[in-house]
Amino acid sequence: MSKEKILVTSALPYANGPVHLGHLSGAYLPADIYVRYQRLKGNDILFICGSDEHGVPITISADKEKVKPQVIIDRYHKMNKEAFEKFGMSFDIYSRTSLPIHHETAKEFFLEFYKRGILKEKKSLQFYDEKAKMFLPDRYVEGTCPNCGFEEARSDECENCGTLYEPSELKNPKSKITGETPVLKETSHWFFPLGDFQPQLEEYVMAMNEKYGWKENVLNYCQGWFKDGLQDRAITRDLDWGVPVPLESSKGKVIYVWFDAVLGYISAAKELSQKLSKENLWREYWQNQQTKYIAFIGKDNIVFHCIIFPAMLMAWNDGSKEKFILPQNVPANEFLNFEGKKFSKSRNWGIDVEDFLNLFPADPLRYTLAANLPETRDTDFYWKEFQSRNNSELADILGNFINRTFTFVQKHFDGKVPESGKLEKIDTDMVNLLAAYPAKISSLFENYKIKDGVGEIMNLARAGNKYFNDSEPWNTIKKDKEKCGTTLNICLNVIYTLAELFYPVIPFSSDKIFKMLNADKTNWDYCGEINLKPGHQLNRAEILFSKIEDEVIDKQMEKLGIPQTKAETKDSKNNDLVTIDEFMKIQLKVAEVIEVEKVEKSDKLLKLKLKLDNEERQVVAGIAKSYSPSDLLGKKVIIAANLKPAKLMGIESKGMVLAVETQDGSLNVLTANDNVRNGTRVK
Ligand SMILES: [Zn+2]
Repeated sequence: MSKEKILVTSALPYANGPVHLGHLSGAYLPADIYVRYQRLKGNDILFICGSDEHGVPITISADKEKVKPQVIIDRYHKMNKEAFEKFGMSFDIYSRTSLPIHHETAKEFFLEFYKRGILKEKKSLQFYDEKAKMFLPDRYVEGTCPNCGFEEARSDECENCGTLYEPSELKNPKSKITGETPVLKETSHWFFPLGDFQPQLEEYVMAMNEKYGWKENVLNYCQGWFKDGLQDRAITRDLDWGVPVPLESSKGKVIYVWFDAVLGYISAAKELSQKLSKENLWREYWQNQQTKYIAFIGKDNIVFHCIIFPAMLMAWNDGSKEKFILPQNVPANEFLNFEGKKFSKSRNWGIDVEDFLNLFPADPLRYTLAANLPETRDTDFYWKEFQSRNNSELADILGNFINRTFTFVQKHFDGKVPESGKLEKIDTDMVNLLAAYPAKISSLFENYKIKDGVGEIMNLARAGNKYFNDSEPWNTIKKDKEKCGTTLNICLNVIYTLAELFYPVIPFSSDKIFKMLNADKTNWDYCGEINLKPGHQLNRAEILFSKIEDEVIDKQMEKLGIPQTKAETKDSKNNDLVTIDEFMKIQLKVAEVIEVEKVEKSDKLLKLKLKLDNEERQVVAGIAKSYSPSDLLGKKVIIAANLKPAKLMGIESKGMVLAVETQDGSLNVLTANDNVRNGTRVK
């Protein structure tokens, strides 16, 4: 199979605040899963992101804190870059739009359009604060959206419904600087003639959709724009923070942030080329017609990636020999809400990625978000769901399957992959299911149905558990070791496949599993085959997922002021508590096993003679399935010594031997060291 060249971009986050879980679900986690999957397929990927460091929100934050904008962007660039790293985002580069290389790229596009006469200079009305004596671009004005009525809309764009409009259309405008109602004042700006590109854009969107099947939400959104008719858009602003307009006549103006930000994807690739000293690397992706370009974004960014950026690239390509590729697909996600409401920094609703990852590892978060991606509609993050995805799915299904298999193989097969004997139907069914899995998940991931893919991979872990149970290795190990070996051999290969299929989703845990298997990843297409050969030495098992206690989750919910529904359970928990006096009523003692015999007509019971300090006593224990008499002789076990005597199968038992059930369903008798004196009290 020939390698595909794939360029993947994730929307550039604003360096004006920390990224939160909603952002991750939109443009970042789906992209990272897609990229990691494509790398396992052996494809040639360039994965780009970086901070968007221009725009009015940054200058507003700087004004508020009485610092320079540079202080704000340095702070949040560093914070978000680190949060992404901790979350496991595998960007090839995380760049910044404040870098000179980006300023040069943005100016180059502007000048090229200017020279070719594409840009139009127009006088327009902008908000002006008479008290502060300055123009008020974008977010310096807040008002009510003329389209949806959202009350925190900015001067020319509504973040809630994504509508762009002229400042004069905004209702109830207020200056963010002085709180005054601003006036509209004439100023001169450069406009990009978006309308001129409408026929080309419509053709492009239609062609891409026909070939690659765009998402319905994206398509509908574009068609809505086309129906309204595309308008000229101002691409300059009266502001002193941003890329300066490279014209003498436009001193004091900067290029509007949306024009420069999308070009950040190109300048980031250029920065990587410089870093790697491969001058033309960026061209190999951006100007190679064989490259497939996928742009991951949230739905609030559709217009920029499906209309404005493509139009800019079309404008460039029309008059240049160096032709850029356009997005082949823009799988925009809907929004993730938080416990039923929108994330809101000002209302303290939500949690930042950095804070989250200080409390929990990245994989349970990646898994929870991936299993619930807002691919076709808005979804919610709930703390309780996070806990249950971690405890009941990652730990109880995936972790348990891996652990019980490893425990069994360590105990009975010296930690080596057992030989596989004759396959019965139950075995071939499992092997066939496994073989079909990589292609099944591929077709979901390739079509951006990542949520469904993740659900299906967990189903494979479920199937593994069921296969283990139905094969009963704890029985076959005694009666038919070869059959037991076959079961374990297949289970280990299922684990190998799970490690690879899950790698895009939970990379940190998958790496641990590969280490436990003492094996490396293979090409995705072959990971469903029998990759672990008999005799292959495994490493020791590690803990993959720790359970998250109710108290930990309750604390997070308390912070949000969500009423606790757990009060009852808490009370019943208190009722379960015993005092130290109550505990001491039960005399746990160390006893040496001096005689053992099977109880006739019982496959469960063993009759033990035990030696305490200065007495011997008889105890009947239900451990015959896990221990043969010779296993126990001479062991120092723990017994509950003052239980009321009972009769089992007619035999008197004075006390109870303590044992725990292991993951494979067998029993493990608790013992003390040989140097502990018989009859010693356990406390
Ligand atoms: Zn709106």
